[in-house]
Amino acid sequence: MQVAYIRKEKCNTTMCNRCVKFCPASRKDMPVIFIGRNKKATVVEELCNGCGKCVKICPEKAIEMKFVKDKAAPAEEIEADVETKQTAPSKQTAPSQAAPAPAPKHKETPEEKKARKKAEHVNRIIRTAIACILGMIAGVSSFYLAGAMDPVTGTQPMPVIGLLILVLAIVIQKTIFMVIRIDVSKLGKKDWFYQGFMTFVTWFLSWTMMLSISFSA
Ligand code: SF4
Ligand code: SF4
Repeated sequence: MQVAYIRKEKCNTTMCNRCVKFCPASRKDMPVIFIGRNKKATVVEELCNGCGKCVKICPEKAIEMKFVKDKAAPAEEIEADVETKQTAPSKQTAPSQAAPAPAPKHKETPEEKKARKKAEHVNRIIRTAIACILGMIAGVSSFYLAGAMDPVTGTQPMPVIGLLILVLAIVIQKTIFMVIRIDVSKLGKKDWFYQGFMTFVTWFLSWTMMLSISFSA
């Protein structure tokens, strides 16, 4: 049978963890892929069902499928295999003598937690910056595209164009995040609301500021 295999040199977890979140065979208390102490994704081979879905989701193309012993083989054989690779090479254990071991559970270490929190924090800053920059661009564009300002009232004839630009600035964020490899699957309704709100605020401020400057000029 096949199981997923991580090419550690390609795995980049700084802004990723996609495979960890995505693996359909993972359970909360028993992940199939987890981030190890070396900050690289690691597959628990005996839990992997070989579906291959993680291969497609990895942005670094760091996941490949490899053949291992038949699924029907005793779990401890595969376990011994994994143990042998993960511990000192001198510590060989004969598969037939290996005691049945429960599937290993991964508990996040304090260092891993710290690294994850740091990556999330950096992502949040990047997302906020993108929302604000897009809001500003949308505000300035709205000013120039919503028609000539009435010198008496200080209004523009086509404010709906400004609204359309705002919507575009909000919608396009998902695509931008995917291009710069921010995991959008982790973002909930609250996060998207925040993105939209920040874009709206900067769009509104930029547009009204441009109008004020132009009106008082
Ligand atoms: S999806 Fe790829 S790059 Fe991201 S953590 Fe998994 S193996 Fe590493
Ligand atoms: S091959 Fe399937 S079960 Fe195995 S790690 Fe990848 S997504 Fe999970």
